[in-house]
Amino acid sequence: MENIIVITGASSGIGQATAKLFAQKSWQVIATMRNTEHQSELKKYDNIKLLTLDVTNNASIVKAKERILEQYDHIDVLFNNAGFAINGLFESTTNLQVHAQFETNVFGLMSVTRIFLPVFRSQHNGLIINTSSMGGRITFPLLSLYHASKFAVEGFSESLSFELSSQNIRVKLIEPGSTITDFSGRSMEIVDGNDLYDYRDFMMRYRQSRKNYLNSPRSSAEDVAKQVFLAATDNSPKMRYVIGNDAISYI
Ligand code: NDP
Repeated sequence: MENIIVITGASSGIGQATAKLFAQKSWQVIATMRNTEHQSELKKYDNIKLLTLDVTNNASIVKAKERILEQYDHIDVLFNNAGFAINGLFESTTNLQVHAQFETNVFGLMSVTRIFLPVFRSQHNGLIINTSSMGGRITFPLLSLYHASKFAVEGFSESLSFELSSQNIRVKLIEPGSTITDFSGRSMEIVDGNDLYDYRDFMMRYRQSRKNYLNSPRSSAEDVAKQVFLAATDNSPKMRYVIGNDAISYI
């Protein structure tokens, strides 16, 4: 029986690298993304199926699931990878931005999980791999919304792993450190409020205190993909897969 993985946010970065690696390892990959039009990279693989899925839109998640189940009789792994960051002074953010951050990184991830869980329950096995971050364990200033969302992913995943353990459904966490993708370029920058108070001196001292972390090499999306593959194929009870500059060791 072929191994099947469903990936969210597979249009770029870690999601795309993971889709390619699993395809090279002869898995059947369902690479989901908001817009499949410009995916020439993944279209090269016969064993990658592209599907539209916006994690903030329940109807699109349900439709993607139905299309998968029309063609495949099981799913081995769900990789909840889609996410983005909002950065800037908290005081300058709006509740709309707080909601937007959680809408994708937390509520979206939960919706996809809830909608796919019955598949795992009916087949009596499955693995959910959620993308958290080093930022789900430790924090940096000016990223309060993002950290809050990734801490939420950590808490959610840990509780769910206990809840599902009797069902033979496992939950694991991928915790990348800083990774070279378009992530930072795509993050939403809140530029208002620079005149609220002078935080530059504070930031310089803060960065100095974390300089070992900040100066350590960044990972590539392929490095992260390899850990996702390890998580998917490793039968040990290990739950967290830390990648690259392990900030925890610098604290
Ligand atoms: P990218 O920006 O390259 O990838 C993010 C992906 O998420 C894109 O495919 C994007 O799709 C998708 N996405 C965003 N919103 C939605 C949505 N509503 N529905 C479906 N897909 C969506 O960055 P990375 O590959 O680096 O990020 C992947 C994950 O890794 C994120 O969860 C991020 O938080 C996490 N991470 C990244 C780190 C880094 O340093 N890069 C470090 C730690 C964790 P679209 O093309 O449509 O925008």
